[in-house]
Parts: sequence; structure tokens; C-alpha cells
Amino acid sequence: MKKHTETQLIRTQMERSQYMEHSTPLHLTSSFVFEDAEEMRAAFSEEKERNIYSRFSNPNTTEFVQKVADMEGAEDGVAFATGMGAVFGTFAALLDSGDHIVSARSVFGSTHALFTKFLPKWNIETSYFAVDDLAAAEALIQPNTKMLYAESPTNPGVDVLDLEALSRIAKQHNLLLVIDNCFATPYLQQPIAYGADLVIHSATKLMDGQGRVLGGVTVGKKELIREIYLFARNTGSSLSPFNAWVLSKSLETLPVRVDRHCQSALHIAEALEKHTEITWVKYPFLPSHPQYELAKKQMTQGGSIIAFEVKGGLEAGRAFFDKIQWLSLSSNLGDSRTIVTHPASTTHSKLSPEDQLAVGITPGMVRLSVGLEHPEDILADLIQALEK
Ligand SMILES: *Cc1c(COP(=O)(O)O)cnc(C)c1O
Repeated sequence: MKKHTETQLIRTQMERSQYMEHSTPLHLTSSFVFEDAEEMRAAFSEEKERNIYSRFSNPNTTEFVQKVADMEGAEDGVAFATGMGAVFGTFAALLDSGDHIVSARSVFGSTHALFTKFLPKWNIETSYFAVDDLAAAEALIQPNTKMLYAESPTNPGVDVLDLEALSRIAKQHNLLLVIDNCFATPYLQQPIAYGADLVIHSATKLMDGQGRVLGGVTVGKKELIREIYLFARNTGSSLSPFNAWVLSKSLETLPVRVDRHCQSALHIAEALEKHTEITWVKYPFLPSHPQYELAKKQMTQGGSIIAFEVKGGLEAGRAFFDKIQWLSLSSNLGDSRTIVTHPASTTHSKLSPEDQLAVGITPGMVRLSVGLEHPEDILADLIQALEK
């Protein structure tokens, strides 16, 4: 019988050494040795699957990828040094010069930089649709369109996209559907079940969950992963064994951590929504969220990120940040420590004010990554900053 996710994340273990360690050991080695010429030949010709060199594979990396692939219901996966390594590796492996991408307008800042600054160097252009207008997405498809790309929920606006509808469009037009599932984690949402071909994660966020290491992973169909793996293996964006070991151990606690993140986030979102110094609050599991019904259908809980607008725009937003006493002002998210970010002046400051608005970033908007501290303590720091 297939075990539950919680069990599988704790019990998946690739290798035990002759010392019979209980916890997976760290295989901090750059290469692996062979008994003889024949063994080496068989490994390099891929007749026999085994580790050769840690840029290609490593037991810690394999264990981490296996856990993510199991959770996502994917056939296979490949790990990267960072989430952006995974995003770029997926594009670079599967797109050719002259191909076209249709993407949701609101995507992670560095992904946007890939679309606008780097992919055009290889003659790969991107067209954008508003997250609430999938008919527009379909209208953007050209004969050379190869990929449909989106995040759900989005960063930083926590908009929710209809994965089933995206999949229908992708299938109809023979496009690859690639979903960045970073905000939800595979514990809350599995895009492959809705028809996605590939799912990408920044493991830096909730997978590590304690703000220590960077990592990324792409999972999905075996033949696509093979191409992405060859790109990673030959271009050197592989995940380090140490980071893979940290991430794999972290996944053992992902379900309990994410449960707590979500419970606290819902409680805090409800409280903030009642506060008179706040214009609006966006959280997927608040009934006021524009895609509340969809979020309820696609996700088992609302996630750890809340967006809200402080009354008074940019100045009030900045003043709010200066009054925060102990919550972290940082650009990261998905950490055990609660983090407040001001996207307009930090993560998305390179966008013009019009482009910021187009991706749902208003001047006084705050992105709150709810951590694992006691929710009443988190709320108290936010409330005193609003009221001072
Ligand atoms: C952080 C993030 C990334 C990039 O991940 P890194 O590990 O920082 O390279 C990609 N997508 C989303 C949605 C993210 O939040």
C-alpha cells in the first residue's frame, strides 16, 4: 500500500552505509570510484545507473528529488542550485531559438527578468496575460508558441490561477504547461493532477523553511526531465550535496510546518481584514479573495503568504515598516521567522509604477510571510506598527 505523504517524506532513504546510520548521512564527495574498467564503462554508457560525479548525481540529491517527485505525483525530477536555476534550466533545455512563451503577467521578479532581458538574446519572446483573464492567454498563442507558464498563487499578489483551465488550453494548442508551485508547496497543491507537464519549486522557501540554504527542483514527465537533467548536468547548475541533505531532512517536517504556517496565516489575515488602518487584505482562503472558490478547489489550505495594503500609500507603507519592532524586514519568504516585505521599493522596484500596478503591486502593499512564531505575537507587532 502506498504510504501517506507525511510517512513517505520521513521514510524515503536512498542509501545506508556500512555504519547503518539511522538518519541519512551526508555524501560530501565530488566523485565516486569504480572497481574496474568494465564497471566504469557501464556507468558512463548508462547501462547501469550509478553515481559518477556529483555534478551528475549524488545520493543526497537523488533522495531530495525523489521526495519532491513523490509528493507532486511526478514521474521524475532534477535538482538545481537555486529556484532560478530550475526556472532557467527548464526554459533552456526545452525551448529553441524562435520559440514563444505565453506567461501570466505576474511572476517572480527574476523570472520576469529572464523573459525580458535574457531569453530575447536567443530569440525567445514572451507574451503576458492578466491572471484573471485566461481567454486573453488563449488569444496570445501563436504558431511558434511552445510553453504556457504561470505561478499559483502568484508572488507577491497571491492571485490564484485556474490550473485545470490552463491545462485545457495547453492541451488544445499542444503547449507545455509549466507551473511554479513554490507558494503552495506540493503539500497543499499538485498541479500535475490538473494536467501540468512540469512543476518548478524554489526549495529555498518552504521546503527548507528555515532560511538556511538555496535550492531548486523541476519535476514532471520523464522524457522532459531527461532533457532538463542533461542541461543541468552539462552546464553546472547542480544542487550541492550539502544543500540537498539539508532540504531532504527539512521535507520530513514540511507537512507539520506548513499546517502551522497556514493556520496562523488565516488567523492573522482575518484579524488584519478587520483593522481600520488597512485598505484590503488578500489571502487565498479569505472569502473576500477574488478567486476564493478556486483556491478552495485547488489547494487544501491557503498557504503562508498574505498581501495587504496599508492606508495612505507609499509613505504610510514605509512608515509601517519602520515601526515594526522584531519581525524581519527581508525579501525572503517561507521561513520559520515571519518576514515583511515592501515589494514596490524592493523585490519589484525595477518595474515602472504602471507595470507594478499591472502585476497587482500597489504603493502601500505589504507582503507578509507568516512564520512559525506564536500567531498572537506576530499580530501584536503588526498591530502596534499600524497604530503608532
Ligand atoms: C524565490 C522564488 C523563485 C526563485 O528561487 P531562488 O531559490 O531564490 O532562486 C522562483 N519563483 C518563486 C515564486 C519564488 O518565490
